[in-house]
Amino acid sequence: MKEEYRSPNGKSLSSDRRAPSCFVIRLARRRLANVTRPLFLLLIVLPALHAEDSVSVLGSKPRWSVLERYKQTITRDEFAHLINDVYCTHGFASDLIETDGNTARILINRAAQEFFTLRFAANSAECKPVPRLWHPAKSLPHAPREKPLSGVKIALDPGHLGGNWAKMEERWFQVGESKPVQEGDLTLRVARLLAPRLRELGAKVSFVRNSDEPTTEKLPDDFRALARKILIKNGVPQPRADVLDPNDPAKEQTIRWQSEILFYRYSEIRRRAACVNFKLHPDLVLCLHFNAEVWGDPNSPNLTDTNHLHLLVNGSYLAEELEFDDQRFEMIRRLLSRVYDEELPLADTIASAMARATGLPPYEYPTTNSTTKVGISGYVYARNLLATRLYRCPVVYCEPYVMNSKDVFARIQAGDYEGTRNVNGIERKSIFREYADSVAEGLVDYYSKARGGSRSPNAMSQTAPSTN
Ligand SMILES: [Zn+2]
Repeated sequence: MKEEYRSPNGKSLSSDRRAPSCFVIRLARRRLANVTRPLFLLLIVLPALHAEDSVSVLGSKPRWSVLERYKQTITRDEFAHLINDVYCTHGFASDLIETDGNTARILINRAAQEFFTLRFAANSAECKPVPRLWHPAKSLPHAPREKPLSGVKIALDPGHLGGNWAKMEERWFQVGESKPVQEGDLTLRVARLLAPRLRELGAKVSFVRNSDEPTTEKLPDDFRALARKILIKNGVPQPRADVLDPNDPAKEQTIRWQSEILFYRYSEIRRRAACVNFKLHPDLVLCLHFNAEVWGDPNSPNLTDTNHLHLLVNGSYLAEELEFDDQRFEMIRRLLSRVYDEELPLADTIASAMARATGLPPYEYPTTNSTTKVGISGYVYARNLLATRLYRCPVVYCEPYVMNSKDVFARIQAGDYEGTRNVNGIERKSIFREYADSVAEGLVDYYSKARGGSRSPNAMSQTAPSTN
């Protein structure tokens, strides 16, 4: 399930566009809500730390000077294609990005009327090399047949926290006396099956999270003052301290609820991004999630027949998101680093392997207001999520399986096992191995082809080893 939610209509911010400075936190009525659920949007406008800046929650003022090194690394046509077809598919205010024949003028700050000027390359032949710390597959040397991932640095990012945090995250439900389903535990289990498999194939694998404890050193209580400030600015003059009834929709207006989301979503993901960007320096991050449909009361959840698969790459920014100086900067930096050229075919290839293994149909978003379908597999969407935006390398965000579908629920309850078993009348692998194996299979397909080698018939002969 995604770590950010957005309103289908999300227009409220436009009225704040002239405000000298603001930041906004968007909150879903229920954080566990799947994207198919109508979303409640709470817009919270606050003066930012720097009076002249417009920065998102827990974000910092961008350093536009780092983009100087991208000058003449892209042609005008390529830049326009990425803006129009990938990143800004919902439009944007006309003064944010303006291009002429040779340059793009990008707004740094509206109040100060500061702009960054990007000079284009005259043509493809004159493009300077793109500076980046990650390695595109095509730049890697030919790999041995049995090690198609040799030398590829892959960071695994199991979504959420799980463990004792799962209820707070609202990534928890329980059917009767059965074992509770906690998304953060499921994703970690998949990552631990996937890591040794990828290492066998030659990859250098690291974990962005490898326990059920947060990577951020902050705790919810550290955000109480900020949570209070956000609520007051949002028209809740005397916010209540605590959630008294978990089913009360007004719980979002409590300091407790706000400080928790600032902790486990905003602070946690920003900390993971720092780990990816300053410590791990991977060639690829795989964000591992399980999806869900609306389950209602977590102690008496709704089980559904619906089940599906989709993958996400970064893009499809909303016009109001591009109003934030930091999000606009991060979008331009991603665009110029050309991650899309790598992450889209990667996502398409992994999606195809996952579709073959799971037999799941593509998820169809009910609206196109926050996503844009991209690629050729039919399973991949562009969307602006915090993790896909902040990790400075290709990011493939996997959303297979509806946890509260009857079939997936039975498979989760069956746990992990070797070989195959009859679950719900069908003989099959454990859901964790099916997930891990199909992601590994997609990576082998992609890297074997991109590195010019033929795929080894034995490269995927084994299933993921057990971690039990
Ligand atoms: Zn998730």
